[in-house]
Amino acid sequence: MKIHINQIPATGLHVEGEEERDILDLNDPAVKPLGTVRYNLDVGLSDGGLFATGSLEADVQMECVTCLEPFEYRVEVPDFAMQIDLPSTELVDLTEEVREDILLALPPYPHCDWNGKKACAGLRKIRTKNAKNVKNAENERNRDHSTGQPNGQSGNEPVERNPWTTLDQLNQLTKPKE
Ligand SMILES: [Zn+2]
Repeated sequence: MKIHINQIPATGLHVEGEEERDILDLNDPAVKPLGTVRYNLDVGLSDGGLFATGSLEADVQMECVTCLEPFEYRVEVPDFAMQIDLPSTELVDLTEEVREDILLALPPYPHCDWNGKKACAGLRKIRTKNAKNVKNAENERNRDHSTGQPNGQSGNEPVERNPWTTLDQLNQLTKPKE
């Protein structure tokens, strides 16, 4: 998914189309990409950076955590947003950002009855036992994703060490012994 920076007009560029499913590069044997990755993006330049917003969609085959049957799942990222510093090259590849967001949108505990079209054979048995744990884990995952900052803003910065702690340690070291 490559963008030529020279081809982005001041008003921004709308790009939509499909990419080979290979870009997903899934390592999980329980998830298989089906068909292409569809994208619909607005790309623009601002303050030395490149940003893209829009939506992504891909169909994958997943394995139900309850009945272990394979089923088709449509991954949708309706609010894709990314921003990167403008690279020195004229051609920018958005594949990695797109890939990451699609992977994040995959359900951590996929269920074959997600769209109500199929009744899961093994659901009832497990639900009484594990439903609470699964629900909590899903909530956790959703919260992480929804508060995530767009790439390149401030989300990826390493946690800063508290300068006062270091200063205190220095004071301890330099303090004259009594
Ligand atoms: Zn199932």
